[in-house]
Amino acid sequence: MPAVQSRGTIYGVILNDKASLAAIGPALFADPYKAAPKAPVLYIKPANTRLNAKVGAGATAILPAGADSVEIGATLALVIGRSASKVAAADAWAHIAGVAVVADLSLPHDSYYRPAIREKCFDGSCALGSEVVPVTDIAGLVARTVVDGVVVAQRRFDDLVREVPQLFAEVTAFMTLSAGDMLLVGVPWRGPQAKPGSTVAVEVKGIDRIEFSLASSGKAVVAPGPATVIALGLNYADHAKELAFKAPDKPLVFLKGVNTVTGDSAKTVRPEDATYMHYECELAVRIGKTAKGVKRADAMNYVDAYAVANDYAIRDYLENYYRPNLKVKNRDGCTPIGQWIPAAQVADYKNLALRTYVNGNLTQDGSTRDMIFDIPFLIEYLSEFMTLQPGDIILTGTPEGLADVKAGDEVVTEIEGIGRLTNFIVSE
Ligand code: CA
Repeated sequence: MPAVQSRGTIYGVILNDKASLAAIGPALFADPYKAAPKAPVLYIKPANTRLNAKVGAGATAILPAGADSVEIGATLALVIGRSASKVAAADAWAHIAGVAVVADLSLPHDSYYRPAIREKCFDGSCALGSEVVPVTDIAGLVARTVVDGVVVAQRRFDDLVREVPQLFAEVTAFMTLSAGDMLLVGVPWRGPQAKPGSTVAVEVKGIDRIEFSLASSGKAVVAPGPATVIALGLNYADHAKELAFKAPDKPLVFLKGVNTVTGDSAKTVRPEDATYMHYECELAVRIGKTAKGVKRADAMNYVDAYAVANDYAIRDYLENYYRPNLKVKNRDGCTPIGQWIPAAQVADYKNLALRTYVNGNLTQDGSTRDMIFDIPFLIEYLSEFMTLQPGDIILTGTPEGLADVKAGDEVVTEIEGIGRLTNFIVSE
């Protein structure tokens, strides 16, 4: 199957080549990072980024307003052939159907502290090839990037910090990669840049050649993908204070894969080595119609339903790169979401009580009126650079009142007028 038709989730990894780590140098050990990353620094390329860049398809990526150049991250996608969970490095290639050529586009950014959503998730920013070629090693492959007919960069895949088997083992240790998912092996440090109006090609001899152009306005034609699950960090002032952060001046957005979503009365695993795992009661908002460039005044017309969500986190795995990282927030079954209630049945989304009970004891008690960035703001902010689709979900953050939960605990999150969501913590 052509990679672009896979409909799976696309995961990428930064800082996975030795040149990147060498270029950052001593800054790796300075504030705010203080250490090189321990876990792979992963991110998600959501459905709105999936550009069919088969030569001749006429693909165009749309840069966000004000962006005058983009970095072309020539890379390879490992296209998953069969479901992979806790796979040993030696067995990795048996789960990979093949590799596809990808150009992972980013607006240039220097900080790796927060997930780079506006920079990496604009419409059409993941240009995908159509060929999936079975290989069992990528070290000898060479990717050439061509901008307006001129070769501007060439990279090999022989200086990865984590080679494919090890990367695969470390990722599948905490989240399942399903058939059709893709894992990009990493973009080079400071890839070549191109400007709107340019035509870009990436070719890997023996695999594929892709081609697309760049524009600063218009509508990107993207291939269907899974629902995008958007989450907000520190979106309640009291919770930000609880974690000793000052409230952010723009939304702290991160994405989650659909592997993490589960339902009511589900079991969620607490890892053996965790010392602090906490729930987060959140109002989940579902998008009902395609949203791009939506203004605040009109934003609520794009919401079709609400649900109670519980966005668990394992704080032990928190690192400062693209914080919170996927090992904290993208574990299988760590995001229970309850029944969807039509928006028309919810009287006042701005004033709903949120509560969590652990084994019947009230531990978290807040109100949606204390959100820092409210729902209309979030829809305007996100739809400025990414097209939201029906079924996409925004988890709007959690108030204060976090506590560690252990195997055997029953955790009930509830939101006034929406419902109750029960979850059971179990050990591995
Ligand atoms: Ca959360």
